[in-house]
Amino acid sequence: MNFLEERIKKDGIVKEGNVLKVDSFLNHQMDIELFDQMGAEYKKRFADKPINKILTIEASGIGIACIAAQHFHVPVVFAKKSQSINLDGEMYVAEVESFTHKCKNHVIVSQKFLGPEDHVLIIDDFLANGCALQGLIQIVQSAGATVEGIGIAVEKGFQSGGRIIRNLGFQLESLAIVESMDASTGEVVFREQ
Ligand code: 5GP
Repeated sequence: MNFLEERIKKDGIVKEGNVLKVDSFLNHQMDIELFDQMGAEYKKRFADKPINKILTIEASGIGIACIAAQHFHVPVVFAKKSQSINLDGEMYVAEVESFTHKCKNHVIVSQKFLGPEDHVLIIDDFLANGCALQGLIQIVQSAGATVEGIGIAVEKGFQSGGRIIRNLGFQLESLAIVESMDASTGEVVFREQ
């Protein structure tokens, strides 16, 4: 088991409805030393890519992306979520369905901060059905920028997102891939990587 899998085993809580709670170290209280290890691991896995920007989505991706950015020495842009489209012609907008909140959001990035010269590493905390990621990919593509790779903390391997994104040809690196989990026993099984 790697360091993130070990931490999930120790402190993750399996909830009904296929939800893994990791709020004591990843997406509410944040363990910055763990984030630093994650950043080093992303740097290793994307070492050969000419990344000049990291893109994430508010809120939970921001902390992970910022600490990872210290390993890449690049700026972080986070997509903002909004219930209504702000159509002033200077934004990239994509529609995203939220797994945890069961609603549709628009994710928005200012055209000032993403363009054809950018080589982007997308970072997020979770990958489930892949809606959030597909929204971010769409935004990068509308900017004429290049997706160099995708770094995820926890992928739920029993949901379809990972397969869809890999089939699209992207280099997707998830530090922990949950194969199955059981709310009654609390057991989490990881995919061998
Ligand atoms: P997707 O768009 O891939 O279906 O879901 C990704 C988003 O949903 C993530 O950004 C994350 O915020 C949230 N999410 C999905 N599954 C889980 C989960 O099991 N636990 C937590 N804490 N968040 C999740």
